[in-house]
Amino acid sequence: MRADTRATWPKDDMTNETTRPNRSGNPRPQQGGKPRVRNDKPNTNHRRHRAEPEEKFIRRAIPEIDTPFTRMGIDPRVAINLPGLGIETPSPIQEKSIPGIVEGRDLLGLAQTGTGKTAAFGLPMLTRLLNIGRKPEPRTCRALILAPTRELATQIAENIDNYAIGTPIRQFRVVGGASINVQTQRLERGVDVLIATPGRLIDLIERGAVDLSQTKYLVLDEADQMLDIGFIHALRRIAKMLPRERQTLLFSATMPKLMEELADSYLNDPLRVAVNPPGQAAAKIDQGVHFVNQGDKAALLAEYLSKHVDELAIVFGRTKHGSEKLSKLLEKWGYKVAAIHGNKSQGQRERALAGFRAGDTKVLVATDVAARGLDIPEVAHVYNYDLPNVPENYVHRIGRTARAGRDGRAIAFCAPAEIGELRAIEKAMKAKIAVVGGEEPFEAAKIRERGGPAGRPAQGAARKRPARRPSRAPKSAPRA
Ligand code: AMP
Repeated sequence: MRADTRATWPKDDMTNETTRPNRSGNPRPQQGGKPRVRNDKPNTNHRRHRAEPEEKFIRRAIPEIDTPFTRMGIDPRVAINLPGLGIETPSPIQEKSIPGIVEGRDLLGLAQTGTGKTAAFGLPMLTRLLNIGRKPEPRTCRALILAPTRELATQIAENIDNYAIGTPIRQFRVVGGASINVQTQRLERGVDVLIATPGRLIDLIERGAVDLSQTKYLVLDEADQMLDIGFIHALRRIAKMLPRERQTLLFSATMPKLMEELADSYLNDPLRVAVNPPGQAAAKIDQGVHFVNQGDKAALLAEYLSKHVDELAIVFGRTKHGSEKLSKLLEKWGYKVAAIHGNKSQGQRERALAGFRAGDTKVLVATDVAARGLDIPEVAHVYNYDLPNVPENYVHRIGRTARAGRDGRAIAFCAPAEIGELRAIEKAMKAKIAVVGGEEPFEAAKIRERGGPAGRPAQGAARKRPARRPSRAPKSAPRA
């Protein structure tokens, strides 16, 4: 039994699915044990609660628990949900940032997804909102979380839902590709936590659907990717609409110059926290590079996939078209595969991810839209079918595996024309990737040894061969 009084919260306050399974289809976590509660019994009189919305924060039963999170200042009503989510001991980023955030400090966090950063900002944010104890005004939000992609926004929303079970705090997610009218309608009532992609937020602000004058808490998640995508103007516009008196938390996996400028203009004397120095891959990922001609990559991929048919794998391609073509080919060869890229509708992307999370599809072919943020602990393999031309994206892509303490394997398929990209990746990571197959062109190997200039193929070694599609399924494919 949970100590919470979920049934006591008026239905009006439930913007969505607290009592339903979460969006990934998993049942919401159950709390083991019966925590003791202090003060009065849960009030089950709905009508009375409707009449006294201000009181609900105070009247709520507060569990008397002592955990590493409550000791850092996290509200017990939130902390009580964590063991059921597998969150028992704070991760390094949580340890370093939660106490400062609870105190109200701004924060600049250098951290990738997989480090537990959503809880690092989400738990203190919920704690502060509970302590303020006020309902949002119509068409306002009390906290705003900006994320670069719909997928990351969805994932954050799921996490916030889970942390906030049993509290009156509700989140609402607004992303492109979904009905703006439905979003406008929901915002009428105001929302505690608004999770948005910058483009859609600007659209909603322009329609007068939401106003940020009362937003006292701002999180910029994966800020470097927001800059890469070109959201800088949107971010500047949004910044101007926020009150000066606010708490701002900015998380980024890398710290390019523009990012530093943005951080300077957004943050006030921030606490600086770094885990996993930027550009370095998580230690638990077993990485390798396989040299292969472009035209032989699909057959090689099938060979790798066939060795691990029951495990989840993400295959990264460079273009939407190429990724779509590859997924069709793999499907023809009998693999359970889905594709996710910018040409897919929001619904298609969500269905593809849901099927993959559930293990119905074992292979997800994706462009860099899925390189960041995706948190599916079961992903055991990442294949860089095409090497990314932005070296940092390699680190983000391979970070989709070896999550939640598990092991993971990342294989890069390097065609002769991609030697330059490989060198740039190694330079950014300050480490060499072990060769696990194929033959490294001799000249390229020499230059790689010397740590030669990145970005250009080694002379004479990396002559581009025209890509060709294999005409036959490889012997190793599940069925012809
Ligand atoms: P994030 O970096 O926020 O994407 O989190 C990555 C994964 O780590 C998510 O599945 C979280 O539920 C999980 N996680 C976050 N904090 C902890 C923790 N302290 N202990 C164990 N798992 C955690």
